[in-house]
Amino acid sequence: MQRSLFSRSLLLLCAAAVALAGCAPVTQRPVLEEKAIAEEALKQRALAWQDLQEDVARLYRISYPILARAADLCDDKLRSSIGARFANAPSIAKEFRESAAKLTGLGDHLQVMQLAPGAPAERAGLREKDILLALDGKPTPSGEGASTKFTAMLVEAAKTRQHLEVKIRRGSVEQVLRIELEPVCDYPVVVNAADMINAFADGKKVEITRGMLRFVRDDLELAVVIGHELAHNTMGHIRKQMGNALLGSVLDVLAASRGVDTQGLFGNIAGMVFSKDFEAEADYVGLYFTARAGHEIDNAPNFWRRMAAANPDGIQQRGFGASHPSTPERFVALEKIVAEIKAKKAAGQILAPQLQK
Ligand SMILES: [Zn+2]
Repeated sequence: MQRSLFSRSLLLLCAAAVALAGCAPVTQRPVLEEKAIAEEALKQRALAWQDLQEDVARLYRISYPILARAADLCDDKLRSSIGARFANAPSIAKEFRESAAKLTGLGDHLQVMQLAPGAPAERAGLREKDILLALDGKPTPSGEGASTKFTAMLVEAAKTRQHLEVKIRRGSVEQVLRIELEPVCDYPVVVNAADMINAFADGKKVEITRGMLRFVRDDLELAVVIGHELAHNTMGHIRKQMGNALLGSVLDVLAASRGVDTQGLFGNIAGMVFSKDFEAEADYVGLYFTARAGHEIDNAPNFWRRMAAANPDGIQQRGFGASHPSTPERFVALEKIVAEIKAKKAAGQILAPQLQK
């Protein structure tokens, strides 16, 4: 009651004031110092950067083993890796640089940001925050462009060698580690800043939206999405369908969950690329990729059920149309794929997708 009386008198006050000088706030506000505002902005940028880093790190942790264990199915689309992410202050986007440097202590030298679980770098004893000093006796680049230059050094070294001698500094101690190079599928899995729940494959890389990263409930669900998108790339779906046409990112998961509806929102490209057969193949090969990385895949069909439930338009009965896979059909197939892979695993067989005879 008191409040409404108060609001009414405020309104009256405003109404009177409008006639003269517009309606301005009438209560006193705190005086804000420039320095405090600048500090707050820095704090918020640090939080935003940290948030993004968590997504990047999570995607790297889950995607690296998938890309490494799928190597024999990626033909010549391979690169050599030690399984570590590096950064220095200049490699961070300008708007975050100051905050990130404060937060991480990153300087001009490249530093280990993350180690893929079980990958050669971790096995050789490299640790997060180690500072890179030299590669095979040559000083590692620092400052602007160091990340790109260092990657080029790795690529060059990998042409002739299977091990790298990496000199690092940890605290005040310098040491040389001998790190093996391993082949991984050269389809980088990257964070897409969009809030929508989706994932993309374009024949060169895989993109997972931040919306999807929030939607997936656990590592398995994320691994299922990555496996599915990677399969679109390794099976050449985009190339087969689009020829050599230049193509941007092709949205996938959402289209798939709607039964590959080529109408309306999803446009023609998704419909053309992700046909019924290609979707079925990405489900099949993708679950092999997921299982190879060590995930228990029993709950994989449930992830697609959750996606379907979020997009009920795609749930159709059998016979909806030859070119439109009905969602129930997809789940029956997924359950069979899970059973096939589990049987192979139990029998100690290599997890390789069955090719058509
Ligand atoms: Zn797909």
